[in-house]
Amino acid sequence: SKTIGVLDLQGAVTEHLIALKNLGVNAVSVKNTKDFDALDGLIIPGGESTAIGRLIREKELENRLRSFHKEKKAIFGTCAGLILCSTDESHTTDDLRLGFIDMEVERNGFGRQVDSFETSLRFSGIDQEVEAVFIRAPYIQSVGPNVKVLASVNQKIVAAEQENVLVTAYHPELTEDYAVLNYFLNKIR
Ligand code: GLN
Repeated sequence: SKTIGVLDLQGAVTEHLIALKNLGVNAVSVKNTKDFDALDGLIIPGGESTAIGRLIREKELENRLRSFHKEKKAIFGTCAGLILCSTDESHTTDDLRLGFIDMEVERNGFGRQVDSFETSLRFSGIDQEVEAVFIRAPYIQSVGPNVKVLASVNQKIVAAEQENVLVTAYHPELTEDYAVLNYFLNKIR
């Protein structure tokens, strides 16, 4: 079966590992560069993107993440993980941005009043609506020509993919609706 790693630095790591195990895949925690070698795919979880980015730099994982991406291995960034996969063309931060998807994001884009909410949404390529949990979530402000938009909420883009990389602004692992995690697993040959 497939081996999927969850970047285990900060955030919703356990929840992803449990969801992946429920889906019958070999789910492993990823903390060091050598942990990447066994993987068919990697999830960058939700949490706090500044903290996760700082830990990626501290533990010198940035180059391994970039080579994993170049090897065309499947990567799924959720929430804070989406932020880390984005670009920063307007140079608004020194925080790590991997640029795996040509997109700019609005961090905490749903506003302070709406800290978190759950909704169901249409997701391109999935027949039934999917359950989505948003927690201080970002949204995708703009995408480049090679990015496929997969889902939106109130005209705000919340899911997209570019080649081997998938991102969602919400947490797909916090409901029992595993359709989007399955969508990710299907990206792996
Ligand atoms: N607001 C967080 C950030 O900016 C993301 C929230 C999440 O991952 N649930 O990193």
